Amino acid sequence: MRSHLLNDTTADRYRRSVTEGVERVAAKLATTDRPFTGVTVDALAPRIEQIDLDQPLHDTTAVLDELEEVYLRDAIYFHHPRYLAHLNCPVVIPAVLGEAVLSAVNSSLDTWDQSAGGTLIERKLIDWTNERIGLGPAADGVFTSGGSQSNLQALLLAREEAKPGWAGRENGDDLAKLRIFASEVSHFSVKKSAKLLGLSADSVVSIPVDHDKRMQTVALAHELDRCKRDGFVPMAVVATAGTTDFGSIDPLPEIAELCAQFGTWMHVDAAYGCGLLTSLKNRDRIDGIERADSVTVDYHKSFFQPVSSSAVLVRDASTLRHATYHAEYLNPRRMVQERIPNQVDKSLQTSRRFDALKLWMTLRVMGADGIGELFDEVCDLAEEGWNVLAADPRYDVVVQPSLSTLVFRYIPAAVTDPSEMDRANLYARKAIFASGDAVVAGTKVGGRHYLKFTLLNPETTVDDITAVLDLIAGHAEQYLGDSLDRAS
Ligand SMILES: *Cc1c(COP(=O)(O)O)cnc(C)c1O
Repeated sequence: MRSHLLNDTTADRYRRSVTEGVERVAAKLATTDRPFTGVTVDALAPRIEQIDLDQPLHDTTAVLDELEEVYLRDAIYFHHPRYLAHLNCPVVIPAVLGEAVLSAVNSSLDTWDQSAGGTLIERKLIDWTNERIGLGPAADGVFTSGGSQSNLQALLLAREEAKPGWAGRENGDDLAKLRIFASEVSHFSVKKSAKLLGLSADSVVSIPVDHDKRMQTVALAHELDRCKRDGFVPMAVVATAGTTDFGSIDPLPEIAELCAQFGTWMHVDAAYGCGLLTSLKNRDRIDGIERADSVTVDYHKSFFQPVSSSAVLVRDASTLRHATYHAEYLNPRRMVQERIPNQVDKSLQTSRRFDALKLWMTLRVMGADGIGELFDEVCDLAEEGWNVLAADPRYDVVVQPSLSTLVFRYIPAAVTDPSEMDRANLYARKAIFASGDAVVAGTKVGGRHYLKFTLLNPETTVDDITAVLDLIAGHAEQYLGDSLDRAS
């Protein structure tokens, strides 16, 4: 069994195994003609169920053959131009190379003595990101597993920083006094974080959005004011720079003003909109982000990186101390005096992947402009797609895109019952998924069911968009035809 250990004597096996895997994936990518096969849970589950994990095959080729059956054949392929559903990007090759390197070397970024250069590379990428945001000379941050974790950590820091202004803070019950303000279309991880942080069930105050799905700052000002008057503590405002559903960007400068006025922590959730940090022409859409106390970025959404690759950034490095605990075996306090960089001092995780390497490889091979160019392309595509939808009488389309998302609904002229339209749209989404011809997402707007394209693939064309719209209309019409038959 030692021949399976990756070391000085097994270079050949390593090379052969990985190459064989790479060849399979390359062949797969070259031959997938649809983003999905449409396989059902019922069809796939028994194939996985019947495999006996206590009966190994002892042969890489055989295992890859088996993998074809249980995974590769029926996976969802984000590189396909008709995958239009969630915030999943096609990945760039330098990042995939980084992934192969980082898992083989397997550095763990909790301490210097488990990573050495890896720690310095991560720190440099944090500085690079902070420079792009404009967070100032005292900024810092750390890579995380994703936007949800970044939001959680940012809100942990905000909670701890709110304490000085927090009357009777010795009393644990006072957590109930803290309030977080986020728009009604902010990410659900804000509420989940509030729960994990021990805040009360009604701690997250939902601020209404305007027609463009941007936080209404008049309403925010009103709620902040009311919070203070009622004796509560405005712990944080979460501004979303790129909402998950609409790509809308909250008015950051106005929100920054209000945060300054009320002494409230400003967190910008730019999990999606961070792509604009490299944009060659739309960077100004996130102006005001430089005034944040903390920022969430998901490189695995708009920097074309494989999952996971994310970071939480802070204006004031010293606030990261709220996540610092010392263990004698790992990161004893004296190491701080010895100036040994242990990233675990800043992180919620202990063992931690060297995800930063993927972004490093990407920047070194393609450059930031290369990423920005790709992200600009999908934003342009979304604008063209919006024009197509706006001109198509079969569809109702909401909010002109600030990023690369389109939300729309099939509205046949002959149907006046909105519930029937809901069912037709839901049916169309399911039917198209089952066909595997395309994958689209859905959401609710004003209580009604809508469909959603999240465009993150520069290979997707306007023709793909129009073709998928025709497919959706076809499925919806089929549903409505069938339901007429049922009624008669
Ligand atoms: C995707 C997303 C998140 C969560 O990020 P994960 O990386 O999936 O954990 C948070 N906020 C927004 C606005 C998002 O779009």
